[in-house]
Amino acid sequence: MEPTEHRHGLKNQFASDNYSGICPEAWQAMQEANIGYANAYGDDLWTARACNSLRDFFETDCQVFFVFNGTAANSLALSALCRSYHSIICHELAHIETDECGAPEFFSNGTKMLLVPGAGGKVDPQAITSVVTRRTDIHYPKPKVLSITQATELGTVYTPDDLRSVQETVARYDLKLHMDGARFSNAVASLGVAPKEITWRVGVDVLTFGGAKSGMALGEAVVFFDKRLAEEFDYHCKQAGQLASKMRFLAAPWYGMLTTGALLDRAGHANAMARELAAQLSNIDAIEIVHPVEANAVFVRMPQPMIDRLKGAGWHFYTFIGTKEARLMCSWQTTREDIAALVAAARGTT
Ligand SMILES: *Cc1c(COP(=O)(O)O)cnc(C)c1O
Repeated sequence: MEPTEHRHGLKNQFASDNYSGICPEAWQAMQEANIGYANAYGDDLWTARACNSLRDFFETDCQVFFVFNGTAANSLALSALCRSYHSIICHELAHIETDECGAPEFFSNGTKMLLVPGAGGKVDPQAITSVVTRRTDIHYPKPKVLSITQATELGTVYTPDDLRSVQETVARYDLKLHMDGARFSNAVASLGVAPKEITWRVGVDVLTFGGAKSGMALGEAVVFFDKRLAEEFDYHCKQAGQLASKMRFLAAPWYGMLTTGALLDRAGHANAMARELAAQLSNIDAIEIVHPVEANAVFVRMPQPMIDRLKGAGWHFYTFIGTKEARLMCSWQTTREDIAALVAAARGTT
């Protein structure tokens, strides 16, 4: 690492929203939680407060667990919804399929993933129907869960209408519905709807709700809207090494960010920065915006020499989907200056 990075932090990055730091509201809550002693393993005031804030947020009596990261949250949630001879249906670009090192299969003792296509990273209900109905015999793993990502891996958002269509399909085939909400706050901020309208009201059984990418240090909430599915989930978390002894530090930022409104405000800022970035980049002839910018990601197609020169000049971003596509991710911490610098650098390479 360059010495300047030690002093001033990494510059020139649109790689991921998890490159961001801890936002002031989350930091403040951790500081308050740091005063004095507290009971361990979640039997403390902060955890109780955070769970209640989430119940208020969703306007329902959901059951909440806090774990260290998204891979654990997704894998453990999914394993609570199915048995090893079942299958989980998800989009072919879903994080649980492409970026979790087989953890969902591992924690559910071998449950098979069935992949479906869909434009803009959203599952196509028609494709779900064909995957579920193509085999019904005992030799094939029984479809049991549909997992969708909100906001999606391609920076789009399922609208309430999209979700009602998903819900119909799920109900028709008696599937459970899991939502990977690593960027759920960005989706809520983008849609401007009550969180319940895109979760339990449309049949979501379990949501894994992301904290790290929203401005917390770490930690995700696993939110069970169907509380029966949460039976013995605490044991599951403990066995998987996901029961934090100092739980208050995972929980307090949720309380802080929810009660101040920062969770949605900061997500709204990240979304606005992405829209701004897309608007400015779309003025550059060589650049094409690939997917609708509905959350905090901007996918662009640019000439390979431009990608090479930007990377050579120290810009950080991912180019993992297709060879000429770059993902530019904004966060609560992205500034107009960051955007201006990237846009100028991109112009400079043409
Ligand atoms: C970041 C992310 C996660 C969580 O990843 P971890 O690194 O395990 O915390 C889960 N789902 C999606 C869609 C993500 O982008």
